[in-house]
Amino acid sequence: KVQVKDLHKSYGSNEVLQGIDLNVAPSEVVCMIGPSGSGKSTFLRCLNRLEVPNGGHVYVDGYDIADPKVNINKVRENIGMVFQHFNLFPNMSVLDNITLAPVQLGKATKEAAEEEALRYLDLVGLREKANVNPQTLSGGQKQRVAIARALAMKPDVMLFDEPTSALDPEMVGDVLEVMKQLAKQGMTMIVVTHEMGFAKQVADRVIFFHDGKIREQGTPEEIFDHPQHPDTRNFLDKVL
Ligand code: ATP
Ligand code: MG
Repeated sequence: KVQVKDLHKSYGSNEVLQGIDLNVAPSEVVCMIGPSGSGKSTFLRCLNRLEVPNGGHVYVDGYDIADPKVNINKVRENIGMVFQHFNLFPNMSVLDNITLAPVQLGKATKEAAEEEALRYLDLVGLREKANVNPQTLSGGQKQRVAIARALAMKPDVMLFDEPTSALDPEMVGDVLEVMKQLAKQGMTMIVVTHEMGFAKQVADRVIFFHDGKIREQGTPEEIFDHPQHPDTRNFLDKVL
């Protein structure tokens, strides 16, 4: 589903990604952990070409996203992304936020898109908020709408970049719960997170990023209970 080969990315002389290899299987949930500045966000952004890599390859559903013949907008339609800061459109209802892209891209009629949107709102526990303005929602609710909006494109893969780290603590659980449901339903997910409990519980594989490299990866048990690399142990000592 997602194949990354020897991915490199530099900003000037700062080599932020120093050769990343990763294959993510259908329905796999991969959690990425690692220190601030280790390249986690840059890596995610390379997966949908929000950043242009300096070297290596990224294949999504078999398409090389660096190939100029590949329509990147089409590829992006299949990659849902949820960031730390949900950028909902403030001047339209929750429902319109969710239906906008599928309708504009001709993926569904307005009626069909609205019906679907309500299903996604059910999934994130916010059906009753369909007609409100997003500005009236709490941070956690906004983030759940952002997830519903990404799902409305029926992506093959969902990328999450610290989706809960800007939230008040009491909101975090609801958002993680939605992500857990998604994982259970078989969504392929790559999740950058500081929520070690979530990673332990939900990840099929945990990847430890350090200095632009994958230092160590394994099952949650391997990484959290038996880390092999001193950098991993060091990091976990600080965050656990
Ligand atoms: P955090 O946990 O704090 O989110 P991260 O692992 O996501 O960190 P990145 O945001 O990928 O780290 O940043 C990795 C490195 O790349 C940092 O040194 C950062 O300063 C640098 N960097 C990121 N984006 C840019 C940019 N647009 N221009 C220049 N340097 C950048
Ligand atoms: Mg980041």
